[in-house]
Amino acid sequence: VSSAPEVEAGAEWRAPSAPPRLRRAVFVDRDGTLVVDRHYMKDPGQIELLRGVAQGVSLLRAHHFPVIVVSNQSGIERGLYTQEDVEAIHRRIQELLAREGTQLDAFYYCPHAPETKCPCRKPGTALFERAAEERHLDLRSSAMLGDRGLDVEAGKELGMLTAYVPEPGAREHFPVEVLEAQGRADIFASSFLSACHRILARG
Ligand SMILES: [Mg+2]
Ligand SMILES: [Zn+2]
Repeated sequence: VSSAPEVEAGAEWRAPSAPPRLRRAVFVDRDGTLVVDRHYMKDPGQIELLRGVAQGVSLLRAHHFPVIVVSNQSGIERGLYTQEDVEAIHRRIQELLAREGTQLDAFYYCPHAPETKCPCRKPGTALFERAAEERHLDLRSSAMLGDRGLDVEAGKELGMLTAYVPEPGAREHFPVEVLEAQGRADIFASSFLSACHRILARG
C-alpha cells in the first residue's frame, strides 16, 4: 500500500537566516579628485570634472563597486556656503556624470571646521563608518581614492586599499605632502582612471 507523503500544514521550509552579505565599495574624495578644486566652491556653474573621472566611475560600477563620495566641507561651518549650496553642487556633479552615462552612489560630507575637532572630518573615519552601516559595506575590503594625505590616512586607519592621485599641479603647491602621501599609499597613479584600473587589478 502506497500513500502520498504527508505534508504538514504550515511547515514551510525556511533557510536559516544568514547575515546580509557585506559589499565592497570604492570611496572617493570630491575636490581635487572628482572635480577641479576651486577653494570653497559655492557656484555649481564652476564645477568641472577632472580627466578620466566619468570613465573611472563607470568602470568601477560595471564591476559592482558602489562609488561613494566622502568630503570635508568646512566652508559650511565657516559660513562661506550653505548645506543647500553643497547639495546643488552634488546635483551638478551627477548631471555631468549622467551625460557620460554614469553616476555616483552616495555623498557624505563633514560640515565642520577643523577647530570643532569632530570625528567626521577626514582623516577622521566617522563618515566611512556611517556609510558602511547604512549600506552594508565591508570597509577592510573597500578602497579609498583621493588627492590629499588626509584621504590616504583615513583609508589606512580603516584597513582599506588606498589610492593616491595628486591633482594636476599639486607637486608645485604641496611638494612635501605629495611625496609623503605617495610613500604611504598602496597605489600611486597619475589619473583617476588609471587608479581605478589598479584598484580593480588588486581583485
Ligand atoms: Mg581633495
Ligand atoms: Zn565633521
